[in-house]
Amino acid sequence: MTQQKFNPLAQFTKKTARYIRIPSQGVGYKKGINLTDSGELAVYPMTAKDELMLKSPDALLNGQAVVGVLANCVPDITDPTETLSIDLDAIMVAIRMATYGDAMDMTVTCPHCKYSNNVDLILPTILDQQTYWTGLTEVEMESGIKVKLKPYNIKDQNRMSLSSFDQMTKLNQLDKEVTDTAVKLTAANVSFGQLVDVSIDLVARSVEVAITPDGQEIDDLDIIKDWIRGLTKQEFAKIDTALKELVQIGLPKSVNIQCDGCKEVIEAPLNFNPSDFFG
Ligand SMILES: [Zn+2]
Repeated sequence: MTQQKFNPLAQFTKKTARYIRIPSQGVGYKKGINLTDSGELAVYPMTAKDELMLKSPDALLNGQAVVGVLANCVPDITDPTETLSIDLDAIMVAIRMATYGDAMDMTVTCPHCKYSNNVDLILPTILDQQTYWTGLTEVEMESGIKVKLKPYNIKDQNRMSLSSFDQMTKLNQLDKEVTDTAVKLTAANVSFGQLVDVSIDLVARSVEVAITPDGQEIDDLDIIKDWIRGLTKQEFAKIDTALKELVQIGLPKSVNIQCDGCKEVIEAPLNFNPSDFFG
């Protein structure tokens, strides 16, 4: 380990934490999360280096930027790659509050009259509207097998988006470079098959445990993946629907505002995607 040199400047750097409750309430962090006695997570402001990281397209694409910022701003999460996707938005909002303050400007174009509304979003009120996970989502299959589901973490999510990105790039390239339709079709099928594998992988990773009717608990990823691959369409849909409901937990995905132009109430989507949110 390299010896840390004492930096006389560092002691004057003010770092005040914001404390927030997170949608998972700390459930699902196997390597540990340190919450206060009242169940809150400390969130620290970004450094100049964090901000630069969030502006690097490559670091953003492979998820490195977000992981780096989490390591620095929420040190009480032992392994930042374990951060649950349902917690990420709330943490990002709190990082923004800790770094720039509670208000955020947003421009919303009215779909009715095209008026450009300037909205002053008060971030703590958005956090107040978040929903919480009870820590357990259970689905019972017709076969009698019970499945306990958990939300994805950002490592799973990054793996998924990188693979999709790869496959999409391959397909686009193929479309430009190959003229033979049969060759194109075969390659497209291979790519599509890989995309399906990636989705099955993501679903399998959301299965905490599968319990057979006679009480055997299965948590081996490969066995679960194999089982999911063989499910009927209806059975798969049951798990898929439960997972889709699970990822809705957390911050609201939109807010209603009244248009200054035509006075209609319009729905403004909230986007906490780090590249836009901190841009
Ligand atoms: Zn309007």
